[in-house]
Order: sequence, then structure tokens, then C-alpha cells
Amino acid sequence: MSRFFNIPERLLLISEEAERLCIPSFREIEKTAQYNGEKVLSAFIENKVGSMHLSGTTGYGYDDAGRDRLDAVFASVLGTEDALVRHNFVNGTHAISTALFGVLRPGDVLYSITGAPYDTLLETVSGENGGSLKEFGINYKQSDFKDDGTVDFEAVKENALSCRVAYIQRSRGYTLRPSLTVNEINRIIKTVKEINPNAIVLVDNCYGELCETSEPDADLMAGSLIKNLGGGIAETGGYIAGRSDLIEHCANRLTAVGAGREVGCSLNQNRGMYLGLFRAPETVAAALKTSVFASALLELLGYRVFPRYTEKRTDLITAALLGGKEKLVSFCKGIQSSSPVDSYVSPEPWAMPGYEDEIIMAAGAFTMGASIELSADAPLREPYAVFIQGGLSYATGKTGILKAVSAILEQATE
Ligand SMILES: *Cc1c(COP(=O)(O)O)cnc(C)c1O
Repeated sequence: MSRFFNIPERLLLISEEAERLCIPSFREIEKTAQYNGEKVLSAFIENKVGSMHLSGTTGYGYDDAGRDRLDAVFASVLGTEDALVRHNFVNGTHAISTALFGVLRPGDVLYSITGAPYDTLLETVSGENGGSLKEFGINYKQSDFKDDGTVDFEAVKENALSCRVAYIQRSRGYTLRPSLTVNEINRIIKTVKEINPNAIVLVDNCYGELCETSEPDADLMAGSLIKNLGGGIAETGGYIAGRSDLIEHCANRLTAVGAGREVGCSLNQNRGMYLGLFRAPETVAAALKTSVFASALLELLGYRVFPRYTEKRTDLITAALLGGKEKLVSFCKGIQSSSPVDSYVSPEPWAMPGYEDEIIMAAGAFTMGASIELSADAPLREPYAVFIQGGLSYATGKTGILKAVSAILEQATE
């Protein structure tokens, strides 16, 4: 069965069973990819993308037609009025941070509806010494998920009136709460707007883009180009999409007030960003299939997984409780050993900047740190969950999962 890798026969049989279980989910993923593929293609055509847009500018980047047209194409794909797509965003955290600083003013309240923001944003919100929102006099409130993992709508109704920005994180992050579907997010947005029409709803859309056939109906959303929308091709970058007036504020924050989006050369990055967006529906589908396969396989082996292979997906993540630090490390080493780049490297837990606990990250990627490529990371803390995402193709994604599972099975028999 596997001519190239030493996967135990027993595991290959379970893998076949897992794949059978995945058939209905895979059909759904393919349908979504077909729809989103057409959506992306029509956005290119409607916005008249031409060969001149694929090359970039240098220096100030005035009149960078490729950059400006790419903003329009992203806005069409995401169903928003406007978008700001830049390689100058160093990651998703930077795009989200720029959006927050772009629209919040001293005295305003930032209200997170989905518990604490993603680990890397904690300093941005409430750090003590580096120019955080808190230091600029922006107050922070949050509501946590209820015990059953659902959003606390009563709390939303209480807090929405006093907030300037209502913040929603779509993906589970490093928690086991369910990721929020687009419908669920839209329901939250409706609730906020009924109480406070002036609130700006900002969605951390990381890992969610193109997993469904529409995106959240938010005032602003933001994400990373080394995740879904970069399609595995974009070399770096991020985006903010939403209302034009707010996008202007964000652009002022990204560059300088007054200069805004008129500056910022695209260098040689435009082609990769266009091609990446064009590839994104297929890349997202491959990553989703890899993720569903991982859920099914790990469940058959007796591990608890979130979400299950039968559940509707709204992002790329599968979390699995492996039951201990050693298994987390083995699993991640198995993923690393199946990478096309740096397969021979052995990842070790470390205190990564921006994260609270020691974390182990496996990612042998063409683009450094790109988690649209098959990757796994695990904060070394209770409940010992590994977070698996990405996969540029289903074939290689599946192989990576099998190698990682082999590594934990081997360890169990040692
Ligand atoms: C990845 C991610 C981010 C941003 O992370 P970067 O590594 O800075 O791109 C923010 N929120 C969520 C939920 C994420 O998954």
C-alpha cells in the first residue's frame, strides 16, 4: 500500500476505514470548493485582472495598479465593500492589530464575545509596556463561552451597548470550544447591531476563509495570507476586509495618517498573491479533507477529537486529545518528518514569542511558518491537545497524518 513510507499494515487498514467514513464530508467539501472556485474566477474576470497587474512597483508604490486591483478582487471574493491586502502585514496578528488600532480611540471599549483573543493578540490588547491598546486608554471586556461551548447571548445583550468594537474569533484557536460557523457569527452580529447599531463588529477570520460558501457579514474581518487566502503560494502578508470608511482608517494605521493606502509598493509580491487567491479554494479543500481524515482516523484509534469527522467545518483545525506530553511531541515529530522541506529536522518545545506556554510546532514548509501547509502545534499544557491544520494536497496531507499517527503508535509499544 505504501511504497515509500513505513506505515504499519494495521494502520493502513484503519486508514481505509477512516477514508470510507469521510466520503460524505469529502463530497460537501468538493461542492464548496466548486462554488468558491467559480466565485474566485468570476471576481478575477469582473475586476478585469490583467497581466500588468501581476507585476509590482518599488519605492513609495504610488499608483500600484496591481495592489489596488487585488484589493478589489479580495473584496469581491469576501463579499465586502472594500479590502486592504498587503504583503506588508507580517502575519494575521499584525492585520488584526492594525484593524483594532485603526478603529478604536481612547476611552472606547473593545468587547470580545468569544473569550480571550488568540494568544498572540493578548499583548496587543492588554500588554503593560509596549504600546498596547490598554496603554492608549482603550478598555477591554470579554464574555466567555458557556459551559456547553455556546456563545453567551445574554452577556452579549448586556455588553453590546457600551462597546465600540465587538470582537469575534471564528476559529477555536488553542481551545476546544467549537469554531463558529458563518451562520452563528451572523446571528451574533445581528444581536449586537440590534442593541448597538454603531458598534463595529470585527471578526478574526483566520483559518475560516473559503471553508463555507460565504464569509461573515461583519464590518471588518482580518486574516493571514500564509493561511487560507494565500493558497499556499503567497509568501507573506495579510488582509483586512469590510466597510470602506473603516478600511481607510486601517490603512492610515498601517502606513501613516494621510498616506494611507496610496503608498506601499508591492515589490514582486503581486503575482504570488493573485495566484494564491486563485488556488485558495482547492488548497482549502485539500486542507479540509486532511483535517476530516485526521478526525476520523484518530477517533477510530480511540482519541477524542474536535470537531468529529461528521461535523460541518468552518475552519481547517482538528484538535485531538492525545493524553500526554510525550505523545504530543511524537505526533509533531511525525508531522515534521513527513514535510517536503526540513523533514530531517526534529522540532522541540520552546517558549515562542507571543505564546504563554511552551509550545511545540511542526512545520516543514515552503513558506516559513505557513500553517496552510500541513502543520501541527501543541501548547504543552492540559488537556494535551494537538492542533492539526493545513495540507497543500490531500495525498501528502493524509500521508503526514499517517506518519504522525505511526509515531505515536510506535511510542505506545516501546
Ligand atoms: C493564526 C491565527 C491568528 C494570527 O496568527 P499569525 O500567526 O499572526 O498569522 C489569529 N487568530 C487565529 C484564530 C489564528 O488561528
